[in-house]
Amino acid sequence: NKQVVLKHYVTGFPKESDLFLKTATVELKIPHGCNGAVLVKNLYLSCDPYLINHMKKVEGNYADSFTPGSLNSIQPIVGYGVSRVVDSSNPNFKKGDLVWGITSWEEYTLIKSPRNSIQNQETDTDVPLSYYTGILGMPGMTAYAGFYEVCSPQKGETVFISAASGAIGQLVGQFAKLMGCYVVGSAGSKDKVDLLKNKLGFDNAFNYKEEQDLNASLKRCFPDGIDIYFENVGGKMLDAVLLNMNLHGRVAVCGMISQYNLDQPEGVHNLACLIIKRIRIEGYVVNDYYHLYPKFLDIVHPLVKEGKLTYVEDVAEGLESAPGALVGLFFGRNVGKQVVVVARE
Ligand code: NDP
Repeated sequence: NKQVVLKHYVTGFPKESDLFLKTATVELKIPHGCNGAVLVKNLYLSCDPYLINHMKKVEGNYADSFTPGSLNSIQPIVGYGVSRVVDSSNPNFKKGDLVWGITSWEEYTLIKSPRNSIQNQETDTDVPLSYYTGILGMPGMTAYAGFYEVCSPQKGETVFISAASGAIGQLVGQFAKLMGCYVVGSAGSKDKVDLLKNKLGFDNAFNYKEEQDLNASLKRCFPDGIDIYFENVGGKMLDAVLLNMNLHGRVAVCGMISQYNLDQPEGVHNLACLIIKRIRIEGYVVNDYYHLYPKFLDIVHPLVKEGKLTYVEDVAEGLESAPGALVGLFFGRNVGKQVVVVARE
């Protein structure tokens, strides 16, 4: 059983060498005394920026850190994935079932409390299984909750999304277009900008790494101001956006990836705009919205099948590629949702 393990707590930006691969033996059946458990074969693992919180030892961190350690003692890192049940002592799961939820970064995982961590996936061969790490899984739900519940969008409004070509951003943009909004995204390369404009239906997009003055870039794209900002990056981008928000604008703070690996977070200088422009800014965590998952699936699944929503994935092959794929998120190497294939069936 190959596993991906944290070598030591990460400081600053993560490196591939902060993780290592080890091999442990595994019995392919539920051990005695594990009533209610399921044993799964992991098929697809989801690389998500939040995992960095578990890889650092930071005071006030909202997440528990993974335990780093030596070759013999430690557990693989834990995250979202799509898996197949190979043995079950739980009446809700049977051998062969496809599930998605929280699993470990290894080939086979014993899940002791499946009710709290995994759910059965609709067995629908019309959509790729890996979509349950993305558009039909946690990132999809994050985009849905953030846009519809936090942003209170109206037809015809102007919407700006940062990290727009990523797992969440690409979907928020398409939701906003379906609602009849004017949508602009920022991303970190020309290829990503082309993707936004030519494949994902954004009205406009720019490469923030090539802009001298983000305030001017936003003024160029939004001559009439921004009604909704879907925040994925924080820092300088947030500051520039605040200057361009409209009266009664809304900012959904989904993430601030530009800040996660800095020793000293950047200051935000333009917060006074919140007052004069009566802006509502709200941070949220997807975990508080999972009660909406059935409704989300009823809406999004048909849109995917009908081709009304597109999803771009960046697929890395093999568990060996997982450390590099995860670290790549913090350098913008992924184009679309970063997935790792452990096995295809
Ligand atoms: P992405 O698929 O968008 O991958 C991360 C992307 O962030 C990179 O590809 C890169 O794109 C961009 N990025 C990396 N470093 C920087 C930087 N220093 N400055 C600006 N952009 C940077 O990730 P997700 O869609 O999965 O996540 C997007 C955000 O949502 C993250 O901030 C994440 O933490 C947050 N999140 C929040 C949740 C919640 O419940 N609130 C749940 C899940 C995620 P580029 O090339 O464009 O720079």
